[in-house]
Amino acid sequence: MDRFRVLAQQADKAGHILALVLLDIDHFQQINNHSSFAVGDDVLAQVAQRLTSLLTQEEVLARIGDDEFAMALLCQADGSDALERIGQLRGALASPIIVDGKPFALEACTGGGLYPIDDESPDQILRKATIALKEAKALGPNQAMMFDPNMDMTSRRRRFIDTAFASAMKKGQLQLYFQPQVALTETKVGRLAGAEALMRWFHPQRGLIRPDVFIPAAEENGLIVPAGIWALQEVCERLIAWRDHPVAPKRIAVNISARQLACHDFIDQVATIITQTGVNPSMLELELTESAVMHNVTGAIPKFQALREIGVQLAIDDFGSGYTCLDYLKKLPVDCLKINRSFIQGLPDDWASAAITKTLLILARELDLRSIAEGVETQEQLAFVREHGCHEVQGFFFSRALPEDAFLTYVETLAEASPES
Ligand code: C2E
Ligand code: CA
Ligand code: CA
Repeated sequence: MDRFRVLAQQADKAGHILALVLLDIDHFQQINNHSSFAVGDDVLAQVAQRLTSLLTQEEVLARIGDDEFAMALLCQADGSDALERIGQLRGALASPIIVDGKPFALEACTGGGLYPIDDESPDQILRKATIALKEAKALGPNQAMMFDPNMDMTSRRRRFIDTAFASAMKKGQLQLYFQPQVALTETKVGRLAGAEALMRWFHPQRGLIRPDVFIPAAEENGLIVPAGIWALQEVCERLIAWRDHPVAPKRIAVNISARQLACHDFIDQVATIITQTGVNPSMLELELTESAVMHNVTGAIPKFQALREIGVQLAIDDFGSGYTCLDYLKKLPVDCLKINRSFIQGLPDDWASAAITKTLLILARELDLRSIAEGVETQEQLAFVREHGCHEVQGFFFSRALPEDAFLTYVETLAEASPES
């Protein structure tokens, strides 16, 4: 940063601008894992040499992290050559790096910020280049991004969510909504089979904040762990409160994030909540997304077995969207597969969606698992999944997720429409 500040003063005098470029090598850890740290060091040294060879005497190269480099480039006053220079630096990694006769093909992401165009403070430029790098990495390997003020908007919003969500739980701003899951049988449609509890956040100034916005942030900052426990507790309390209600659901599903499952005391917490509330564990279903499970199958197996012993039901959420490796279904005790909404959306006309849905339903049936089609919005979609043996549906065709009172009113209407249940 010292050298960058000095260079910034020089650039000011000479009427140049500076491009601060951060370069992060993709999957560098694999080199350390598959070869050795000595080989990894050698690769990094060669990367540094290649990058240096493309810089002028005054320009700066620094290694600022394990596999992360920062460069300050002197560019023309209008910044017109910045992209070309960054392209050259990226090109330096195009041919493989050879260590002990072995080639290593590298890819890298870059993020860049322009001084003084993006900001007049070198520290802020570093921050903005870091944001650009993060956006590039989010796109996948081998991506390049320059800072753009919109990115900062998103990161400002993220900071707002990070701080506000922490107090949301304490201030009672979180609430659970319930979406009905309706059973499909040979003869009739419409008996309530269960419900999924979905989290909502009511912010006093901003109103309703959707889970798509705050759940990913809470996953990243770890607050999903206490929030998920809160949801579990809340669901168990509802099940107890609705115990004598004639038509309330006898099963409620709650979403569990990968981070929660990874907690060493997760199983104990589930057991404690069940004991303390006195809920019948078989009325509780835990939904884990396929990608969360696949993230660490070996770690998930004993946890699933322990949850099974406690007596809760287990569902794989967003089934079909995470991975094609189905091997894990043999190893994990699960009760239910929830067919991802993306396949249901295309029904019945999109042949690929139809083929995949049919196949997933056959798979569920053959494995003796309950199936739920998610995101059913139309009569045609309902008819399709019903015809192919799906057990239950959840979607706007029946109802959106509703607050408790509206939900109970809805299930009463449903019970009246299908009295034989
Ligand atoms: P999900 O678990 O896949 O939940 C289903 C989402 O699909 C819900 O969105 C639901 O409102 C929506 N949906 C249901 N039927 C339809 C339909 O017919 N059409 C369309 N377009 N959408 C439908 P929601 O409530 O916005 O939740 C989004 C995601 O946030 C959830 O996806 C889940 O991943 C996460 N989430 C929500 N509550 C919790 C929670 O308590 N814990 C955790 N870990 N994640 C949660
Ligand atoms: Ca879910
Ligand atoms: Ca889902």
